[in-house]
Amino acid sequence: MTNLKRVAPQQKPRLGIMGGTFDPIHYGHLVAAEMARGEFELSKVLFIPSGTPPHKIRKDLTAANLRYEMVELAIKDNPAFDLSALEIERKGLSYTVETLRVLRRTWPEYELYFITGTDALLEIFSWRDAEEILTMIQFIGAARPGFDASDFLLKVQEEHAEIQGKIHYLEVPALAISSTDIRSRVRCGKPIRYLLPEPVRLFIQQNGFYTAE
Ligand code: NAP
Repeated sequence: MTNLKRVAPQQKPRLGIMGGTFDPIHYGHLVAAEMARGEFELSKVLFIPSGTPPHKIRKDLTAANLRYEMVELAIKDNPAFDLSALEIERKGLSYTVETLRVLRRTWPEYELYFITGTDALLEIFSWRDAEEILTMIQFIGAARPGFDASDFLLKVQEEHAEIQGKIHYLEVPALAISSTDIRSRVRCGKPIRYLLPEPVRLFIQQNGFYTAE
C-alpha cells in the first residue's frame, strides 16, 4: 500500500482526525492514533467522538457526553492529542462529511488525514457524500491483527482512480483490543484493567456502564 514519504519543508502540515464511537475508548485506539501520528508525520491528532452515529442501531449506546468524557480522560497526558465536541454538539446524525466541511474551513492550511478502523472504512462508499469526502481528505485505515484489508483497498483504488493513493493502511497489533469485547467483559464481570487507561476504567466502574444485558 501507499507509504507516505517524509514531509518536505515546503509541504503542508498534516492534521490527523480520529473518528469513532469510542464506547469505550481503549489502548487500541490510542496506539493507532500515536502510530498514525508517527508514520504519517501528523502535527496533531484530533479525536472526534460521534454524537449519533448514522449507521448504529445499538439501543445501549452510551450517551455522547459520557463517551466524550472518557476520551477526555484517556488523552489528557498526550500533548499531541486533542478533542473536539463538534459531533457531540451538532444536532441530528453525525455525518462525517458535515464534520469535514467544518474542519476544512477551520484548518485550511492543513492536509487532513481521517483515521478510523478498516472495518468502518470498508463501508466508505455507503457514507453520505462519500465522493466529496474523498476529495477533502486522505484516509488511514487502522487494522486489527489478522484483518487483511489490503486487497480491498487496492481494488477500491483501482476502481476509483480519483482516490488513487488517498487510502492508507496501518496494521495496529494493539487493536486486538476492541470496545465490543470490553463491554462484554464488563457484563460478564471479567477484568478490563490494562485494556484501557485506568481513569477510564474507574469512570466506567463508578458509572456502572455496560453492566446491563
Ligand atoms: P464502528 O462501526 O463502531 O467500528 C468499526 C470498526 O472500526 C470496529 O472494529 C472499531 O473498533 C474500529 N474503529 C472505530 N473507530 C476506530 C478508530 N478511530 N481507530 C481504530 N479503530 C476504530 O465505527 P464507528 O466507530 O461508529 O465509526 C468510525 C468513524 O466512521 C466515525 O467517525 C463515524 O462517524 C464514521 N462513519 C461515518 C458514516 C457516515 O458519515 N455516513 C458512516 C459510518 C461511519 P472498536 O469497536 O474497538 O472501536
